Amino acid sequence: MRKSMLMAATIVAAGFTTSAFAADLTVGVSWSNFQEERWKTDEGAMKAALEAAGATYVSADAQSSSAKQLSDIESLIAQGVDALIVLAQDTQAIIPAVEMAADEGIPVIAYDRLIEDSRAYYLTFDNIEVGRLQAKAVFDVQPTGNYVMIKGSPTDPNADFLRGGQQEVLQAAIDSGAVTIVGEAYTDAWLPANAQRNMESILTATDNKVDAVVASNDGTAGGVVAALAAQGMAGIPVSGQDGDHAALNRVALGTQTVSVWKDARELGKNAAEIAVELAGGMMATDVDGTVDFTTPGGNDMNAKFLAPIPITKDNLSVVVDAGWITKDALCQGV
Ligand code: BGC
Repeated sequence: MRKSMLMAATIVAAGFTTSAFAADLTVGVSWSNFQEERWKTDEGAMKAALEAAGATYVSADAQSSSAKQLSDIESLIAQGVDALIVLAQDTQAIIPAVEMAADEGIPVIAYDRLIEDSRAYYLTFDNIEVGRLQAKAVFDVQPTGNYVMIKGSPTDPNADFLRGGQQEVLQAAIDSGAVTIVGEAYTDAWLPANAQRNMESILTATDNKVDAVVASNDGTAGGVVAALAAQGMAGIPVSGQDGDHAALNRVALGTQTVSVWKDARELGKNAAEIAVELAGGMMATDVDGTVDFTTPGGNDMNAKFLAPIPITKDNLSVVVDAGWITKDALCQGV
């Protein structure tokens, strides 16, 4: 039995809560990369919540390499972490890491992105809903015409969750012939430059006959808007997500229609708290807000989903009021 579990048993018997002994816990976080602005916010919130609980934060950055992520996790385990939080680069390639952790009795939280393994606890936003909100905001302003779907990384299950939600919203209009999907592409590694290249190819192939773009995050939206601007088409509806400061400015300027905002501070805080609870021996089913989730691969997992909020020109005050961005930063270039 791991040291932390033994301690949990002792302390629970003595009537203390898990946080009373979190001082002895170390939580290891494996990041896939810090490409998008949001991940530093997630990290800051995690660190703060762990420190508040008296636990120690250690981390590694896989720099977009699924092979490095495996060795990172091996070394976090060797450092004696009591729980792992993993932002997976590749949903399949990461499974041996979950295996290693399970062999050591170390709980794993699949952070933001699904790991197809029922031993992991899945903590994320409702990504299908993010996809719905993206398509809905675009469809509300452009209910007819030629649509382009710029998807996320093919190694990230979120790409298909988002695409599924987007399809739900557009299906009736596609069936009626009001909307036609004229181009669709995954974005390798979620790289804005790849999204821009894909958008350029689709514009060439369609002779610029594009009326709206459902882009799956703010980074890819940035690539799309650059491709559109080069053709004098900036201003057609484009979606995104994450509440990146540059994207919120595009929303203010009118070159992006929506950024679905996921408060990364909340996700980071939840992950830290759950890691401490699971490391302390709490059953995943007892974690506050836990629901059953069946993955596309047929695995039954314990999961927790937070709710996303669409930010358009009409409700930019939501992110200002929440302290996500200052009014000054939002008005840059407006
Ligand atoms: C996350 C998005 C993020 C993307 C690229 C997705 O899994 O849910 O918030 O923009 O990865 O990092």
